[in-house]
Amino acid sequence: MDVGVLAVQGDFREHRAKLQRLGAHVAEVRLPEHLHGLDGLVIPGGESTTIGKLMRAYGLDDALRSFEGTVFGTCAGMILLARDVIDGVPDQLAFGTLDIVVRRNGYGRQVASFETDVTLVGDPVPLRGVFIRAPRIEEVAAGVEVLAELDDDAVLVRRGRYLAASFHPELTDDLRVHEMFLASVGRSRSAGLHASNGGLRVRA
Ligand code: GLN
Repeated sequence: MDVGVLAVQGDFREHRAKLQRLGAHVAEVRLPEHLHGLDGLVIPGGESTTIGKLMRAYGLDDALRSFEGTVFGTCAGMILLARDVIDGVPDQLAFGTLDIVVRRNGYGRQVASFETDVTLVGDPVPLRGVFIRAPRIEEVAAGVEVLAELDDDAVLVRRGRYLAASFHPELTDDLRVHEMFLASVGRSRSAGLHASNGGLRVRA
């Protein structure tokens, strides 16, 4: 499976290491052409305003709009995917591909960063969540699946080929969230291949 990690800013190296541990072939994406042939992409945590500016500067914003693979945004990456961003900067890059509303730094500036157990839906084993100036999911539209929760907040969500986490699954040893991403990549990949076999849709 060929996946990429957006590598313009943030903790892309940790994502790459985890995905490689799971057997994926991982490319670092810094230019639009690096997306060619990839089945999935991780947009890492970092600073969403900086990542957005760099994506625009390199033409990665348009490239991502026409990317057909699975996309997983973590923390700053989740902010980029959200339909609406509260407390964003005026020209904040927003793809709006995932129907959630997020608040930047939504867990407060004083307790900017914390670590706690989150609950994976349907899994009795808690997952350690590292939250670093994390966005808070304030609204989840119908049809968006909640995969993990912290108290009453959704912290890991999925709809179709978009997956987003408000925490940093790349900073702990647990592989479950990256496994979910690769499973989503595998599913949309076989759906795409199936569609092209049937002549309905041809994936690049
Ligand atoms: N607060 C950051 C932002 O607005 C996100 C923090 C993170 O990715 N760890 O982009």
